[in-house]
Amino acid sequence: MELSDLPIRDDLQGKSPYGAPMIDVPVTLNVNENTHSVPAEVRASILEALSGALENINRYPDREFVALRLALADYVNDGAKGHSAPVTPESVWAANGSNEVLQHVLQAFGGPGRSVLGFPPTYSMHPIIAEATGTQWVTAARDADFEISPATAVAAVKEHQPDVVFLCSPNNPTGTGVSLETIEATYDASDAMVLVDEAYIEFAPDDHPSALRLLEGRPRLMISRTMSKAFAFAGARLGYLIADPAVNDALRLVRLPYHLSALTQAAATAALAHHSTMLATVEQIREQRDRLVTELTKMGYTVWPSLANFVLFGGVVDPHATFRGLLERGVLVRDVGIEHTLRVSAGTPEETSAFLEALSDVDALARLEK
Ligand SMILES: *Cc1c(COP(=O)(O)O)cnc(C)c1O
Repeated sequence: MELSDLPIRDDLQGKSPYGAPMIDVPVTLNVNENTHSVPAEVRASILEALSGALENINRYPDREFVALRLALADYVNDGAKGHSAPVTPESVWAANGSNEVLQHVLQAFGGPGRSVLGFPPTYSMHPIIAEATGTQWVTAARDADFEISPATAVAAVKEHQPDVVFLCSPNNPTGTGVSLETIEATYDASDAMVLVDEAYIEFAPDDHPSALRLLEGRPRLMISRTMSKAFAFAGARLGYLIADPAVNDALRLVRLPYHLSALTQAAATAALAHHSTMLATVEQIREQRDRLVTELTKMGYTVWPSLANFVLFGGVVDPHATFRGLLERGVLVRDVGIEHTLRVSAGTPEETSAFLEALSDVDALARLEK
């Protein structure tokens, strides 16, 4: 029995699922996680909260996740300069990872006969979620160095007339930011819903503003974020969205009832109470990212400046061979399918050193073979 023997939907025939390799190696730098574990004191609080939630686990959870929305609003209000804004709990939505948030958005605003516009190279899940919700994924080219100018964005919106636009800032896998001018121009160019995926915003410099600055008076603007990256909570699955409360009412039409388990709500709320501790590693990760940029440049690679916790580097003669060479040395990076490039996440200082050493080793071998 093969997948192709099954009567799956016509529009899913021949598609591939998300497939970042899951390989157990000493140095895992392939999916942009925070590689620091959650501090013991926060783990203790989470355990206590989980234990409290278990007392009522015979009941369905709070469908409106009120405590969690309050905690998320507090966190967003308190965040780094440039990334914060006064948001109310009513403007916060959440789901099992921001991937599920994006799925809710496309279930409500996309779907059959509708389209979502993206600017590749961008997050590989955007087209997959589009396909899964029956939304047509349409694309437009970026400017040089993966930038998107206001004029480029406006021209793309006018050409494709999409129902939804996805802008990713900082963008995965390039690390590039999208300016507020571009977001504003995109919004003004049509009546489309505009989503800014800010999964990596905590790693951006404090003077790189969040799209939150634009939220007031723009009911079609949505900002998605996640606890999976800076917040070191990828395993818990919690993503969220900030938008006009009416947008959240639209998402209520498509989410499954009680979609956030009592355990997820309790764990995330407890972790958010410690948000400054949870974010303590962000500065260190930014330093390692900047170190990667400096060292890779010195080694002769082309490196794109990154506002996130990873770096895309080019000039790799054979990315597949380099990927294998690094893997043989216990280091897992990501081949994102852009010619002659690889992407590496900034890890702890030790992990970053291990990657840089393995890479120069692989390089040396490659030169010997020539
Ligand atoms: C990692 C990532 C996410 C996070 O997804 P979760 O489902 O919240 O873990 C979202 N958007 C982008 C661009 C990402 O790289």
